Amino acid sequence: MKLPAPMQLVLWGADELHAEPPLAIPAVFNFLPPLTAAVSPLAAPPLSSSSSLASDPAGRGDGLPALDDAPASATTSALRAPHHPHVECHPVCGLPWFRHPQAQHEIRLGKAVVSYEIQRARRRSIGMVVGVEGLSVRAPRWVSSTDIETALRAKERWICTKLVEQRERAQKQLSARIDWREGATVPYLGDSVVLVLDPRVSGAVLHEPSAIVERALPGVAQRTLHLGLPQNASAEQIRDAVQDWLQQEAVKVFQARVPVYAERLDVSVRKVSLSSAKTRWGSASVDGSIRLHWRLIHFGVDVIDYVVAHELAHLREMNHSPRFWEVVRSVMPEFDGPRDQLRHAVIPD
Ligand SMILES: [Zn+2]
Repeated sequence: MKLPAPMQLVLWGADELHAEPPLAIPAVFNFLPPLTAAVSPLAAPPLSSSSSLASDPAGRGDGLPALDDAPASATTSALRAPHHPHVECHPVCGLPWFRHPQAQHEIRLGKAVVSYEIQRARRRSIGMVVGVEGLSVRAPRWVSSTDIETALRAKERWICTKLVEQRERAQKQLSARIDWREGATVPYLGDSVVLVLDPRVSGAVLHEPSAIVERALPGVAQRTLHLGLPQNASAEQIRDAVQDWLQQEAVKVFQARVPVYAERLDVSVRKVSLSSAKTRWGSASVDGSIRLHWRLIHFGVDVIDYVVAHELAHLREMNHSPRFWEVVRSVMPEFDGPRDQLRHAVIPD
């Protein structure tokens, strides 16, 4: 059986620049897809997974994920995991409950209760879609609800895995949303800054806390970003001012870090530019130019260094072969941590 492909890899194009290595992890530079096609520059295709099951003997399924494609452990372990405090529980049985807002039916699948909607349609097979709202089933008019339940049970693992993934993304995305107003917190270099509207400054100015304040308020976000905006500034004005500043900061940090790794890797870099690509944190071209996503400025320097080292290593190995990873390791022996941080990151919008 093939290893299950990570879902984000299926839904997002792979890194076009580099061939897929058989053993390396190719999804490193793909963003986790947000839940909906948003209006932010990181807008992404909506994350909905669909499956189809033939309901007639001729077997006219759409061929979408077979049961074996579902990561076997994800269903039960994710549902059991204690780190999902917001999982809704069914009022009667107390099991995790996935409820579609238009649900007319309910079924127990594995260790969860799933409320789903059925849309009757002119079609010959039963289709299933797990989207932001939950499970939706499309079925021909002549298929009984018992047959639909049988079909759902046959896809139990796949459905539960997708529902859990959707819920986790929704929670992450919600917590990552920035409310653009005074007092909002914005992630910056692995830490955070608090926004202050301050018409006296021009542009944006970062204020480092004094040692006394820091000692007085341990654990409180202390750095403030003063924006030259009036008190009645709109959310868009605040967002634009902050993002301009973040992009300028990203340029500064990249300009400082790229030469360090270029020297260690003995490569020459022709050009470094900022990117706002939808699916990649960085890219490298054979001509020696590097593109790095400005949103990396939200992360700590270790993560930024990893992406810099990764892209510069491509100037020596234009692929993700084991040789490539050796090159990365030669300048960053412990890159698993930063790489995982990126892989699980949700970028605020
Ligand atoms: Zn790469």
